[in-house]
Amino acid sequence: MTEPSADLVLLDGPVITMADGDPIAEAVAVRDGRIAAVGNSADIRPWIGSRTKVYGLEGRSVVPGLIDCHTHVATDAKDGAAVELRDFYVELHSVAELLQRLAAAARTAPVDTWIVGRAGPMQDRRMDERRLPSREELDQCMDGRPGYVTFGSHVLIANSEAMRRLGIDAGSVNPRRGLIVKDPASGEPTGEFRDGSGAFFSAARNQDHNLAQLLSLELDRCVRRGVTGIHDVVASADEIAAYQDLLEAEKLPIRVQLLVRVVHGDFASNSLRGLGVRQGFGGDLLRFGGVKCSVDGGFTGRTAAFSQPLSGEDHGTMRIQADELDDLVGQHHQAGIRVCVHAIGDRALDITLAAFAKAVTRLPRRDLRHRIEHMGNWLCSEERLVQAKALGLCAVPNPAMLYFLADEIADALGRERATTAFPFRRLRDAGVPFGFGSDGPGLWPSDPLRDVATALSRTARSGRLMAPSQAIPLTDALRAQTLTAAWLGYDEHRVGSIEVGKLADLVVLHGDPRTLRPSDLEQMAVDATIVSGRFVHGDG
Ligand SMILES: [Zn+2]
Repeated sequence: MTEPSADLVLLDGPVITMADGDPIAEAVAVRDGRIAAVGNSADIRPWIGSRTKVYGLEGRSVVPGLIDCHTHVATDAKDGAAVELRDFYVELHSVAELLQRLAAAARTAPVDTWIVGRAGPMQDRRMDERRLPSREELDQCMDGRPGYVTFGSHVLIANSEAMRRLGIDAGSVNPRRGLIVKDPASGEPTGEFRDGSGAFFSAARNQDHNLAQLLSLELDRCVRRGVTGIHDVVASADEIAAYQDLLEAEKLPIRVQLLVRVVHGDFASNSLRGLGVRQGFGGDLLRFGGVKCSVDGGFTGRTAAFSQPLSGEDHGTMRIQADELDDLVGQHHQAGIRVCVHAIGDRALDITLAAFAKAVTRLPRRDLRHRIEHMGNWLCSEERLVQAKALGLCAVPNPAMLYFLADEIADALGRERATTAFPFRRLRDAGVPFGFGSDGPGLWPSDPLRDVATALSRTARSGRLMAPSQAIPLTDALRAQTLTAAWLGYDEHRVGSIEVGKLADLVVLHGDPRTLRPSDLEQMAVDATIVSGRFVHGDG
């Protein structure tokens, strides 16, 4: 043969390439970290030389590396040492069990140590008692130590000692972007904090962890589920440093695009513009992917800004006002930096669309692929979709929210809004590009196969079926985690499909997703994850 031999050959597929026209191949040859050939097994066999690793697929299939478009891996890794209370990770069904776990941790912890527990979003609605624990209960089980428990990213319950150390009392005013819940009768803080106020606590507690190590553990969990790339929202300098530590030690297993949180993180809103950094800055594995900001609160903390309130709530919290957002979007747009705006409620969505419209009108460039995080979860009226398409915006919906929180969502949104929730088919038909983001791993694990399965089945973990008419076929769902996800990272020329010349980011699935029921797809094992031709998980 005239060709040089390959480093790795995968034979006897199916290989779901996601290339134009969705061709299915049987085999792939990889050389120098790139895809050298794709075709029938007979076409690829000549690439096998004496040093080629040959991987027989034998009923398994290959898909392009999976990309999770919205994660908080580095931020959430900081809580890697917290007491595990998340019911999406462990069996935990009651406030009583939650307090037991905290008490057990407090018993073995040195005096004066902060006890930090991590529970799941809206877990109060799923525990037997149907409530959050109280400040007094945390006082009792933590035995004088300062401590708190987070419930997702928008709700935190602190004990009295924690509040005493931080000097929080009836006289404390709300931080600019958060809420200290107070007893309406006495005016005393109840121990419940929402949104930005949680930052008090994470800043106060003693931080003696090695973040790079904790981050490495979280990234390992990702690769075991076939993740080869993430767009990770980072909120502080130590997170970026931890990524760089792993990169330098050659221990960064996947591609990471940093979405730098401005406004609510440690970074000033002009920090990237100040450096002169533009879109695309960085290397093969670690890259700058844009800035991120949050216009409203969260759904799970019931602080998102809806025009019609969620059941039993008010209109939510605007964390950025319209004029501030106009400036932020406009200035980054001018500077060639992509902006990812978190907008959950429809009030937030509308001021976000308006801000992008102003920026694009002033400077009509359409190459920046600005994103609206969580758009595509609900309230995508025809008008909003047409506007998003016209402005060249991309949506990043979260099938994981359907999977884990369908019951809570149906309750809070009410019947009418719930029947049009997660409108993936309408997004597709409107031509608004969308990539799926898990929003994990703090809330639940990053797991693109689960999210693809949910986009097909529309079925939650609880069994609830949600707006089944909005189901999309497997190819469309996979595209939202491969080719379109790559495009959202300006990476469609390097990854996202299995085509000659692209980087060899590949996932070997234990079966063939085309023939499985969604419930089996969701559980399907990932036998190998390959990044640039190198096995980062599985048979290497
Ligand atoms: Zn998020």
